[in-house]
Order: sequence, then C-alpha cells, then structure tokens
Amino acid sequence: MDSSDSYDGIVLGAGQHGLILASYLARQGLRILLVERRLQYGGGLMTEEVTVPGFYHNLHSINHFSISSTPWFRDLGLNAKVRYITPRYEFAQPHEDGTALVFSRDLDETLASIRRFSPRDAETFREWNAKAEEMTRRIFLQERYSEPLSVEERNELLSRSELGRQFLALTKRQPGEVVEELFENERVKVLFLFKLSLFGTVLHEALGTESPLGSLIRAFDLATGYELCEGGSWNLARGLMETFIAAGGTFLNQAHVSRIIIEGGRATGVELADGRTIRARQFVASTLDVHQTFESLIGREQLPAELLAKLDKFKYTRWTLFGVHLALREAPNYASSAFDPNVNRALKYNIGSETIASLMQAHDEVEQGRVPSRTQFGAGALTVIDPKQAPPGRHTAYAWHVVPWAPDGDHENLRAIQPEMTQRIIDRWREYAPNMTPDNILGTYTYTAYEYSQHLINMRGGDIFMGALSGDQVLYNHFGYRTPVPNLYLAGSPCHPNGAITGGAGYITAGIIVRDLGLTPWWQPLDARVELAKLSDA
Ligand SMILES: Cc1cc2nc3c(=O)[nH]c(=O)nc-3n(C[C@H](O)[C@H](O)[C@H](O)COP(=O)(O)OP(=O)(O)OC[C@H]3O[C@@H](n4cnc5c(N)ncnc54)[C@H](O)[C@@H]3O)c2cc1C
Repeated sequence: MDSSDSYDGIVLGAGQHGLILASYLARQGLRILLVERRLQYGGGLMTEEVTVPGFYHNLHSINHFSISSTPWFRDLGLNAKVRYITPRYEFAQPHEDGTALVFSRDLDETLASIRRFSPRDAETFREWNAKAEEMTRRIFLQERYSEPLSVEERNELLSRSELGRQFLALTKRQPGEVVEELFENERVKVLFLFKLSLFGTVLHEALGTESPLGSLIRAFDLATGYELCEGGSWNLARGLMETFIAAGGTFLNQAHVSRIIIEGGRATGVELADGRTIRARQFVASTLDVHQTFESLIGREQLPAELLAKLDKFKYTRWTLFGVHLALREAPNYASSAFDPNVNRALKYNIGSETIASLMQAHDEVEQGRVPSRTQFGAGALTVIDPKQAPPGRHTAYAWHVVPWAPDGDHENLRAIQPEMTQRIIDRWREYAPNMTPDNILGTYTYTAYEYSQHLINMRGGDIFMGALSGDQVLYNHFGYRTPVPNLYLAGSPCHPNGAITGGAGYITAGIIVRDLGLTPWWQPLDARVELAKLSDA
C-alpha cells in the first residue's frame, strides 16, 4: 500500500467492531482499508502466553455473551472458522461455610441448587426465569442488534402487548431493589446481583434507577448467557480477519491514525502518525472512543457546538479491572465441592463477597478512589471448560478485582499496589480453594488498567467499555452512528449496544453506511421496528 492509494472507506481500529464493520462492507464489494495502530489486531480480543509458554491467557475479554447466535456470526459464516463453547455451569458461588450455589443452563439443576438455600426462592426463580427468557428472546436480543428506536416509538410498540408492557414496567424499576423484594436468601440475592453485573463487578450503572435495556432480566435468564471462544478470545479476531481478507479487504497495522482529514466540511481520509495520508472516496468510520475521535483526530474548532456539548457531558466508567492471570498444575478445587461437585466446573465465579453489603462496599470504596479493603473478585479457570488453553493436564485461571484508576489520587499507585494486591487475591482464593498454593502456581501475571489503557489507548482512564453504561447513554440515548461531519461515522463502543463483546455497533453501522451509500445490503439487517411489532401479533 502506498499513500496515493484510495479506498471507498477507511475503518479506524481493528477490534471486534472494526473487524465486523469492515467485513460486512468488504463483502458488499466496497474497497475497504482497516487501520490499526498496534502490531496485533483484535483489540480487546487479545490472548497471550504471558505466564509460561503454552498457557494462553485472555488479558481482556473472556466471557462473550451469546456470540454464536448473533446475526453477524451467522451472516459472516463464522461457525466455519471459530468455535464457541457453551458451558453447562455458567455461574458458581462457593461460600466460606463450605456450601455453594451453582447456576446451570438446565433449569431443574439450577432450581435444585437454589432450593438448598431457599425453597421459596427456587419457586420465585422458576416463574421469573420463564418470563426473563421470553423477554430476552423476543425483545432484548432483537433490540441489541437493531438501530435503537426513539423512546416514543419504542414505548408505543412495547405497550401493544402484555409481554412488552411487563418489560417496560421492569425497565422503570431499580434492579437491586427488585432482587431484594423478590428473594429472601442473602446468598441467592448476591449471586443474582453478581450475574446481573456482567463481569463479576457490580456495575453501579446497571443498578441505576432506570435501566432502559431491562438489565434485570439478565439475572434470571439461563438460556442466553456467556460462551467461551475455544482456544482463546483471539480466535474470534482471527476468524473475522480471515473473513475480511477473503472479501478483498486491506489491513494496515502499526499505523496510528493521528488525524481525520476534513475537506469541504466532509471526512475525506486519514493522516497517520508517520506522515502518510490515505484517502477515502465515500466515508471514514471510527471505532475509537469519542474523545479521541472528535477532540484529538478532528479538533474542537471544526465541530458544531451541539456535538461539543454532548462530548463534554459524556461519562466514563469509574472503576477499572485489576487482573491476575495464573498458570496452574491443577484447577482450583473448591472446599465446597463436597457440598456440590459442580462448583468446580463453572465459567464464572463470585469469590469472597457473600453479602450484598460487601459486594457494594467494594464499589463504594472504588468510587471514593480507594482500593477495596475486603478482597472479593470475579474469577474463572477456563481450561476446565476448554483444555486447549493450556498444555495437556494443566490449567489457567484468572481473577478480576475492581479498583480505581488512581488509587488515593495517584494513577502511579495502580502500579505500586500490584505485588501486594496480587498476593491478597491469591490468598483470598485459597480460603475457598485450598489447592491454590505456591507449588500449584507455575506462573503469575498481573495486568491492570495501568497496562491495558496503554495497549488499548481507546480505553481511556481504564474504562473497558469506552463509556459508562448508564441509562442516559444507552439505547435511544447512545452517542449515535451518524455524526455531524458528513461521511464520518462512529461504529464502536460509544454506540448502541455499547461496550463489551457484542459486535453490535459494527454490525448496525454496516447497514447504515450501505444504505446511506444508496446500496442494498447483501444481508438482511435486523429491524427492531419489525421485531417489536411482532409481539402484538402473537
Ligand atoms: C481487563 C478487561 C476485561 C474485559 N472483559 C470482558 C469480558 O469478559 N467480556 C466482554 O464482553 N468484554 C470484556 N471487556 C471489554 C471488551 O474488551 C471491550 O468492550 C471491547 O474490546 C471493545 O471493542 P471495540 O472494538 O469497541 O474496541 P477495542 O477492542 O479496544 O478495539 C479498538 C482498536 O482500535 C485501535 N486504536 C485505538 N486508537 C487508534 C488509533 N489512533 N489509530 C489506529 N488504531 C487505534 C486499538 O489499538 C484497538 O485495537 C474487557 C476489557 C478489559 C480491558
């Protein structure tokens, strides 16, 4: 590629969103350049041998929500290239007294686990599980991969059916309060809140006063949940890159975009940090964070006041993840496996917080800029489910603890606390899984926001989502795919369905760009208007 080359479109950032968007557009027959500043593509789909050779660690995303049934996974034929494993046991919560709760995809198995703590809670869960699964299938997943409707149109469509009305009512309730109200057993409540919180970190955002997405149903759904990318998360990036290249796309790595060129009021290309200029005949699409895209790459002076006001109001997530990755001789063996052997077989674990008060305490301390005083974290040992991620018979495990970006007001402290905090996490883990001893641990690697925000500069301030998932920034309140600059699109995490591995913003923006170009998409983009209208036909 030389700098005189020109493309129909340039996509900025080769994370999941950039790869999905670029693949759809290349398959449309457009000449697409995908530009990435790092050597390696994939962004948050990184998998590396950071502890001991042969042990694969997913340093960023691990738990991928229902990926193999997304419309883009199907349209792009990814099942021929990438395999997802659906773990039978999705969540487990060992307790200090040797008991444990384990959530299986099988309803009866989950009910049996809950019943050991509260027969009444098991019956309540049965009822809510049925409702939640129908809402997920018919509303949540349809909206997740569609351009959001206006609040008025959405309310009107949902109000036409009983299911829609029940869903709307739930979106107006505070999820934590509903869990408190419905269930009696503290540990059952804690695991629901942990499940609701996406990654084993209670998101204050998800527990906010209003939840337009209906986050609450995530707690009660067993059918739709997290899957594991076989061999490591990076395999999803590989499958997408193969798709993009096979469709005729061009990938340019180690190319830091330093400016989006605006000429005659339109986006016409990009300038790279090494001085090269590349032209786009039809559009530029950014999957980067909003501040980099608009402030750094364009400049406030070129932007309308309305956009600047939105930018200045934009909120980021206030917690970061402190990650500990381990290479192990044997997988964690929980003391509570005598109570329930399935506790050793789950994808995600809630370790160390057994009351709602302690779960919330960590977040309150983080909000105040302090490292949580009680050690409690989300964890997993992926090789129990996918042996490919370690040498035969060996295992990997990870722990994520919430911590602030700048402990006690200084970001450098995030580095200083690493040895002690890593040890605290391993020690706490050993209280639940006694075999987490020094001779079982073959290697340790600590990876925090200090490091990941340098690898992925778009995760500014350690925000893994590139924007808070608060009610005022999701769904019809998202940042928007079209921008006030003609031919410039936003196609990443600031747009619905926002951060995490969903691929949604890349998928939805592909449909918008193709139609804006006056073309007919080669695929059938999902349309919430059509899908929600079906609710009242039933
Ligand atoms: C520790 C951690 C754990 C996580 N766990 C999970 C999980 O279990 N499940 C889940 O769903 N999500 C998880 N996430 C979040 C997930 O990784 C992100 O939501 C996802 O990667 C966002 O995808 P993206 O395509 O928008 O951005 P990214 O994946 O960050 O990709 C953006 C790309 O743009 C590139 N780029 C940035 N600036 C420039 C520039 N100027 N020029 C050129 N290229 C540029 C970056 O290098 C990067 O490759 C986790 C994140 C972290 C950090």
